[in-house]
Amino acid sequence: MAYLKAQCDFGPRNPGSAGHCQCREYLVAQLKKSAEFVTTQQFVFSFGSPRQSMTGYNIIGRFRLAVRDRVLLCAHWDTRPWADEDPDAAHHQMPVLGANDGASGVAVLLHMAELIATTPPAVGVDIVFFDAEDAGTHQENRTWALGSAAFAREYAYSFNPRYAILLDMIGDAQLNIYQEAYSVEYARALVNRLWDKAAELGIDEFIPEMGYAVYDDHIPLLQAGIQSVDIIDFDYKYWHTLADTPDKCSAASLEKVGRVVTAVIYEE
Ligand SMILES: [Zn+2]
Repeated sequence: MAYLKAQCDFGPRNPGSAGHCQCREYLVAQLKKSAEFVTTQQFVFSFGSPRQSMTGYNIIGRFRLAVRDRVLLCAHWDTRPWADEDPDAAHHQMPVLGANDGASGVAVLLHMAELIATTPPAVGVDIVFFDAEDAGTHQENRTWALGSAAFAREYAYSFNPRYAILLDMIGDAQLNIYQEAYSVEYARALVNRLWDKAAELGIDEFIPEMGYAVYDDHIPLLQAGIQSVDIIDFDYKYWHTLADTPDKCSAASLEKVGRVVTAVIYEE
């Protein structure tokens, strides 16, 4: 939860903002404390109306580089430039804080980075924070998840993970994680494994029923041939509103998701 708040303390982290720049430096510095190797992948993308061009930054931390058998853990770190789902239309052009939608998945992975450094699992792990997930236009899939698309183009083959687990919007204090539909369709075995593990741990916020189909960062990874699951609680009243703030999130929710992912990684 401290990692979630630390990101929100930079303010909105939409591409081009001061918070985006400061948070990027923070995430690199944090990963350097635990990862064997940290790098940033830059890419150029365009977004918004009128279109503007911007540099995006995926932040990559690699653990146990000598191990060929690897898994990928990921989350988007950027926040949406527009609160276009806010009940107040006057807020639609203002950037969201993204406590849940942005900071939550990154927060869990920052903590997992520490665990992995302290007690290395048998597999190699790559943690990737994707930029430019959330500056898309509704009904236009290819305007979303641009960081993961850039990552998949450049690194899918060389990183060659056994699978990828994506965390998005997992901090909601009222946590209900249904199985995301594309994940079920294209990575059913891993979905079952994660939800079975949650049941075994008594974490019943993981509900073994099909939920929404979400065009998220796992789609470019799936298209690159990586078995990928999106762990996402898409029933969030404050999604893309100015009210997506840390008080809507809870440490307990972050912990539950972290425990499930950790259990799966350490049994490899
Ligand atoms: Zn979003």
